[in-house]
Amino acid sequence: MIIIMEPGASETQINSVIKHITDLGMRTVVNSGVVQTVIAAIGETSKYSTDQFEILEGVRKVERIQVPFKLVSRDSHHDDTIVTIGKNIKIGGNNPPVIIAGPCSVESEEILLSIAKVAKECGAKMLRGGAFKPRTGPRGFEGLGKIGLEFLATARKETGLAVVTEIMDTRDLDLICEFTDMLQVGARNMQNFSLLNEVGRTNKPVLLKRGLSATIEEWLLAAERILDKGNSQVVLCERGIRTFDNKYTRNTADIAAIPVVRKLSHLPIIFDPSHATGKWDLVGPLAKASVVAGAHGLIIEVHPEPEKALSDGPQTLNFENFKKLTKELELTSNLLASSKI
Ligand code: PEP
Ligand code: MN
Repeated sequence: MIIIMEPGASETQINSVIKHITDLGMRTVVNSGVVQTVIAAIGETSKYSTDQFEILEGVRKVERIQVPFKLVSRDSHHDDTIVTIGKNIKIGGNNPPVIIAGPCSVESEEILLSIAKVAKECGAKMLRGGAFKPRTGPRGFEGLGKIGLEFLATARKETGLAVVTEIMDTRDLDLICEFTDMLQVGARNMQNFSLLNEVGRTNKPVLLKRGLSATIEEWLLAAERILDKGNSQVVLCERGIRTFDNKYTRNTADIAAIPVVRKLSHLPIIFDPSHATGKWDLVGPLAKASVVAGAHGLIIEVHPEPEKALSDGPQTLNFENFKKLTKELELTSNLLASSKI
């Protein structure tokens, strides 16, 4: 951490900043320039916020040299992490983009099985579906709970697809772990720190969605918490953020976050074009754009009759459009692999 003093900072102010740093157990390197003094604090700086030094008298600015998300950063782990789900699904590195498809909510065994079959036929490797659903209002469909998990397990058995489902409450952890191959932490819970701590203590792969208004740094710090608790099997998921404009799209799809995260972190990153746009006809273009931008996979909402879906119908693809999109995505990733785009 670098502490830049004001040009007119007094000897006393400089010495008191140095004392403050050494009292915290760090050492200092002081560079006294003609105009300003710059103090480097060396040691466990990630334990302290920059504010703590910025408020000291005579300090102009404080800057970190290291990123605060050490474990997820490429500084600590240079090569791409590849997360394995089930026996042999690999997300990350140079593996082809993994497609995760399914309904927003698990609604019935019959509907789920019909979706799982189409997903499998189209090359998806994983089935998504919420059994515990976060809803903005208290009277929306909140999922089937345990029965929904059982339907997911049946679909997994019938198709061989691995399953990802959302966890909202630490009290459901054991139950959900019994039924799922991957735990989804939803956008609304990205900063539910006790939930992050608990999923970090499991050995299940985690799909960590970006919060509705989370900065990339806050999102990576949420992942850092999971890694810090011992679980390194984290896949990040960009799902759009809230901006000033929601007239034509539900969220703003932050495609730039994909290459940014790939540069900063070794963890895989996938894209959710359904929640990122909120409109089924925007899912295809954005899905393709995300693959070109470097996404390691996609999570897409699919339903036989989106107009009858109990949640997120407007952003859900019907079977015909999902089939068409998966063909286009295959073409896109083949072109990418052969460096034609
Ligand atoms: C979902 O995947 O259906 C969902 C609720 O997503 P998010 O947490 O990104 O809103
Ligand atoms: Mn949804």
